[in-house]
Amino acid sequence: MEDELPQGIGGGGRLPMAARVLLDGAVADLEFDYSIPPALDGVGPGARVSVMLRNRRMTGTVLVVYPAAEAEVPRLKPLLGLLSERVIIPPALMAFGKWVAEYYCAPMESVMRALLPEAVREEKHGEKRQRFVRLVKTVSDDELAALRKKAPAQAGIVDRLTLLGKEPVPATAFSPAALKSLAAKEWIEITEETVERDPDGGESFLASRPLTLNEAQQRALNAVLEAVAHPKEAKPMLLFGVTGSGKTEVYLQAAQRVLDGGKSVLVLVPEISLTPQTVERFKSRFAEMQDQVAVLHSHLSQGERFDEWHRIQRGRARIVIGARSAIFAPLEELGLIIVDEEHEGSYKQEQPPRYQARDAAVVRASLEGCAILLGSATPALESWHNALRGKYTLLRLPERADDARLPLVRVIDMKLEKNKAGKGSPAILSERLRIAIDQRLARGEQSILFLNRRGYSSSVVCQACGNVVQCPHCTVSMTVHREAGRLVCHVCGFQKLAPRKCPACNDPAILLSGYGTERVEEVLRKVFPTAKTARVDADAMARRHTLRDTLHAFKTGKLDLLIGTQMIAKGLHFPNVTLVGILNADLALHIPDFRAGERTFSLLTQVAGRAGRGELLGEVIVQSFTPHHPAIQHARQHDYEGFSEQEMEFRRHGGYPPIAHAVLVTVRGERENLAEFTLKTLHAQLLKTLPPDILMGEPAPSPLVKSHDQYRFQILLRARHTSQITQPLMAVINAMKMPPDIITTVDVDPVNLG
Ligand code: ADP
Ligand code: ZN
Repeated sequence: MEDELPQGIGGGGRLPMAARVLLDGAVADLEFDYSIPPALDGVGPGARVSVMLRNRRMTGTVLVVYPAAEAEVPRLKPLLGLLSERVIIPPALMAFGKWVAEYYCAPMESVMRALLPEAVREEKHGEKRQRFVRLVKTVSDDELAALRKKAPAQAGIVDRLTLLGKEPVPATAFSPAALKSLAAKEWIEITEETVERDPDGGESFLASRPLTLNEAQQRALNAVLEAVAHPKEAKPMLLFGVTGSGKTEVYLQAAQRVLDGGKSVLVLVPEISLTPQTVERFKSRFAEMQDQVAVLHSHLSQGERFDEWHRIQRGRARIVIGARSAIFAPLEELGLIIVDEEHEGSYKQEQPPRYQARDAAVVRASLEGCAILLGSATPALESWHNALRGKYTLLRLPERADDARLPLVRVIDMKLEKNKAGKGSPAILSERLRIAIDQRLARGEQSILFLNRRGYSSSVVCQACGNVVQCPHCTVSMTVHREAGRLVCHVCGFQKLAPRKCPACNDPAILLSGYGTERVEEVLRKVFPTAKTARVDADAMARRHTLRDTLHAFKTGKLDLLIGTQMIAKGLHFPNVTLVGILNADLALHIPDFRAGERTFSLLTQVAGRAGRGELLGEVIVQSFTPHHPAIQHARQHDYEGFSEQEMEFRRHGGYPPIAHAVLVTVRGERENLAEFTLKTLHAQLLKTLPPDILMGEPAPSPLVKSHDQYRFQILLRARHTSQITQPLMAVINAMKMPPDIITTVDVDPVNLG
């Protein structure tokens, strides 16, 4: 594929151009300038090229193209060749990539990898070529009869092709030997064509019709369309609507209008596999233009990814739905970006480039000059803050669209239940919840139970010596997975056989403490022996289609009870579910993180939103050991605004986001002392150089001190604007000589505090 060119070829009549190239695979960004030989005329940003660097052949990506006369070095070496003909990153997207690198302190190389996914860079996946056959001879009955006796396989092919008329048929349907004989006789013609892989596996959708919007929806849609028409004057929009208020319908109709106007639409969802119904609703609404819809999910093969990228880049796919990395999709002529469930933590990428896709989407929209719509029932406080101070336009959908009422939420104090359960066995089902499930079973209605912890028990504790079995690589207790008969570390995945005796003192009195979804399933089967129960979590859903099949069985009433983790918290809509049980509302509260309350509130609201989405009134039972916590009480009242007001007070008081921006610096390494010492040295340097209006915390061990055999220490910095921190911080880090086995990471606007 590579075009070799002789070195030092002269320029033609046009202005000689030069390209700045970012080399692949270097640890730090390495950029060099090369002249563009006439044969490579038209090379643009994003082009994959080969170049010489000190007599070594390297590959890289063009960042910018400029007149060679402006080069700092007088005699540039030429680009050697192009690795791919068509890869070009649109200019607005390139500018966006540069913003991501700068704002998030990420190497441009890592941003390039996001802009050009592996499958596109590597090029080896290429296009899929497929052979087609077509009948070119008019075969008489006699000829066919003779052939049937001599070579029935060939006659069979002729029959099929006759039936299908002039349409070419994929050659894979037939025996290669028979095809060869027919082609030799010139009865058929075999052609090879480029085909696109079909990630849907030929699945087809029935087009859904737009619903008549209610007043609030219509107002929201009008505002969105106004912004689409005049994006330059419009602010980003935040669509705040309770679960079931019809936000998705607003997205669908807005998208439709943008497409009708000839522009394209980018839709971000938290995670494709967790929001199957949202994706399906887009697919079915746009079923008539299915070839223009691209869904980017993590299950795509490299070949499929290659096809999708090119389909988008050539403007053939005009509506793209994907998780956070889709923010880098090479769409042009963008009319609207939609970020669904904008509060979701999964919009944050935890590897370089550590971007927050929702915030980045706002910047991309401004660079593209298009409208942007964020939507949620429980907006992130960052977005809410922006709406309150007029940076974003707030659009509200205060009521449920389908006339269903918000579910009744009861909070059960598990401290009282604990005593009833008796010593040793955890209180899993309160009496109230057990009775409520029984009632649903009797009425033929469905229930969902939610617990955000998989496995059987959360830890193994020795009753004799108190030892808790810990992961040898991380500072967390190992979780029992009974089905697999193993202990599993949920941080690094390390597994070992479940012990029969205490590994420390050999006493057989080991106790499984706490509980996960596996144990709940066991309890449910015991307590409700006739109920049809299924479990949805990462262990049970390891295979590709299990989740889809289980949800389908639930939807069609083949199951009564579903127990699951966050996999069932989002975007699912089952009209016959009238009960949702939240088994342990406290799990997310006890994480040492200033967002713990916000996360708990939004999780409870999302999960509760699964109840009563049909004509039947829903009931939610929340089990908690801290029933009076504001996050739980406000969720009980469906009171987002009350919660956010109180939470904002706490953030203001502590100087936390969204009042300030935070940057988390983590130093990690296998040697604990060295990691700690390095961070302290960095801290001392920062004390000397940082301006006083930056709040800097003390260097401290990360909440999870050891993870994957690495010890981690961190400092949290806060200031009004990110660049106040990142500019001096990066200067100090770059000037410091770091020990070779120490890794320093800078996380801007962190979501996970370690
Ligand atoms: P959200 O995205 O806010 O959770 P959905 O768009 O899923 O809400 O809407 C919830 C339910 O209400 C869905 O069943 C949807 O079909 C229905 N719905 C939405 N808008 C309307 C409308 N204007 N008229 C009737 N039903 C509607
Ligand atoms: Zn581990």
